[in-house]
Parts: sequence; structure tokens; C-alpha cells
Amino acid sequence: MATVKRDYYEVLGVAKNAEGDVIKSAYRKMAIKYHPDKNPDDPTAEDKFKEAAEAYEVLSDADKRARYDRFGHQGMGGASGGGPNMEDIFSQFGDIFGGGGFDSFFGGGGQRGGRRVKKGSNLRIKLKLDLEEVANGVEKKIKVKRYVACSPCSGTGAKNGTELKTCATCQGQGQVKKVVNTMLGQMVSANTCPTCHGEGKTISTTCDVCKGEGRQLNEEVIPINIPAGVANDMQLSMSGKGNYPERGGVPGDLLIQIEEEPHEFLKRDGNNIMFEQYISFVDAALGASLEVPTIEGKVKIKVDAGTQPGKILRLRGKGIKDLNGYGRGDQLIHLNVWTPKNVSSQERELLEKLRDSDNFTPHPGKNEKGFFEKVKEYFQ
Ligand SMILES: [Zn+2]
Ligand SMILES: [Zn+2]
Repeated sequence: MATVKRDYYEVLGVAKNAEGDVIKSAYRKMAIKYHPDKNPDDPTAEDKFKEAAEAYEVLSDADKRARYDRFGHQGMGGASGGGPNMEDIFSQFGDIFGGGGFDSFFGGGGQRGGRRVKKGSNLRIKLKLDLEEVANGVEKKIKVKRYVACSPCSGTGAKNGTELKTCATCQGQGQVKKVVNTMLGQMVSANTCPTCHGEGKTISTTCDVCKGEGRQLNEEVIPINIPAGVANDMQLSMSGKGNYPERGGVPGDLLIQIEEEPHEFLKRDGNNIMFEQYISFVDAALGASLEVPTIEGKVKIKVDAGTQPGKILRLRGKGIKDLNGYGRGDQLIHLNVWTPKNVSSQERELLEKLRDSDNFTPHPGKNEKGFFEKVKEYFQ
């Protein structure tokens, strides 16, 4: 299933910092070169054509491009892995080649010219993930209510077996022209036909099930594979899992926004996990063996005798899996020494005995015992 994708910048042959018009012109060249109609004998042309369209779709959109730069292909929604379909690619050509799309650019009358496929609306959902799920990835089953094609009428809205008829208002053109008299003379404006909404056809007998809408609301359970290492606010998309449009077309996408739920005491820092561990100054002085929580359960750690507060212990590979497959982060344990706030008279007695002990006098300097004497001298 999984295919290795080439870097989008490499696909279009542009620099990482290329401006929008450079990307657009690079894509235009690729689209002309690999257009399937122009390469009937080359079976790889269509793949290259799609690859270029996918790269362009991402790099021409500031949001998607920023996400791609940060997270690579995984950030683009590894869940579906699809990329745009041919219909999407052709419908996008109006922007690339100007008005009439690809065919008018070539001056030829290809059968694809002017075809626009209606796409349904996107569905957006928020998905809460806990730290374990973020760290290891997870398959979630989510319940969504979405419009799907009405099955008795196959999404057309016309009663089973009845034909669609040419729209009487626009004679099947999908547009109505209006002549307006202005100071500069007559001007013709074209507007979408209000009767058929630009479809050029109307229904003669309406489907009973969907009342002519061609779609039905359906509750569905969709499995989503969440890759490990996703982050808060990241958006994954599953193409074709959004709403089906009215009376035919292709469904929109399902957009999944990640919400990270904070863990009770483990804190995420990139791919690492931080944990704050307090130890008593007795344990710091004499050393100890303790258990700390990790996302995979309890792990024993050893605190060396003579440990200073602020020391960081590293548990390799106990962090979060990298989104792009670059290994796994660590868990970092920050050791802090707990100073008692209240002491009993008995404890006080013990501590007073230690107060003047040479070993209990701090020696943060390199020259150890002479350090505090030198500081005293400095102020005299
Ligand atoms: Zn019409
Ligand atoms: Zn129907």
C-alpha cells in the first residue's frame, strides 16, 4: 500500500524557496509535458502528471506548503495517501492555463475542455488524542454524519429509470446571457442558470427517496490511521470522505484536526518527553533507585550518590516516534532536590549536627574546599 513519495520541490524541479509564480510556471511545463492525452504511448506519463499535480496542489497553497515544509509528506494526511484525482487536476487547470483550461491553452478542442466536476463540501472534525496515542500512532474509528449519493437514483436525483431533460431556461447551456445597455453600448453578461444551477439538465420525475437532491445523510464509522508523532492543530485529510454534492459529482474531503490532550505529569517537548522528578537530599547524597512513569509504563532509574539538583537523566527511545520516520525521541528526567519545609525537633537535631560538617558545606567551585574562603576574601 505505502508508496515512497518524492520530494515535491524535486518533482517540480524548483528550489525550496521558490516564489509562487516560479512554481506555477514549473507546473505548467510539467502538465504540458506529461498530459496523458499527449502521451498515449507512455504509461508512466499519467503517474508523472498526477505527481506534478499533487506537488503543485501543496506548494501553491501557503498553508499546505508550510505544513509540508515542517512535517513532510506525513503532515499532508498520510491517512488517505491518495493525492488529487484526475477530475480535480483538470478542474484546477482553469487557474493554471487561464479561462478555458488546458485545451484552450493548446488551441485544440479536446473532449475535456470546459468540463467542471462538482465537488461536495469538506467535513471537518476535531480528534482528541492522548500522549500514548500521539507517541505510537493509533487507528481511530470515528462516527461521522455525511451526505452520500442516494442509491436508488445513483445520486442523480431523478426517479429510477427516468431520463434527465435539457433545461428549458438555458437550453442546456448552464448559463443565461443578459444584455445590458450601458453608456458604452450593449454589454452581455453570463450568469449561472437559476433553474438548473449550471447543470444544463433538469429532472423530469423526482426520486422519492432523496426528493431530488441526489444525496442522503448517512451515519458512518470511518477508520482513520493516525501516524505517530502528530502535533496539536495539525490537519490530516482523507480525500473523498466528505459530503457528496447535490445531484452528482465527487465527494469533498474529511479534514481531521488533531487536538493533543495534556498528560497528567509527562510533558511533550518535540519528540522528547520531559518528567520532573523530586528526590530527597538524603537520596541525592547517598544515591537511590526509583521508579518513574513513561508512556510505556514504569521504568527503574538509578540516582548516583552525590547527585546535584538540575541533573538530567535520559531514557533513550522512550519518547515519541518521529512523524517522518526519523527514529524516536527520548524521555528526559529532570532531577530536583526536595527541601523539607517543616522539620520535627528530632530531625532538627540531626540536621544541626550536619550543618557544620565539612561535607555538607557547598563546594560548587573547581578548587572545592577553598572556594568560599576565596569569596569571603573577595569582599574584604
Ligand atoms: Zn438551465
Ligand atoms: Zn434519490
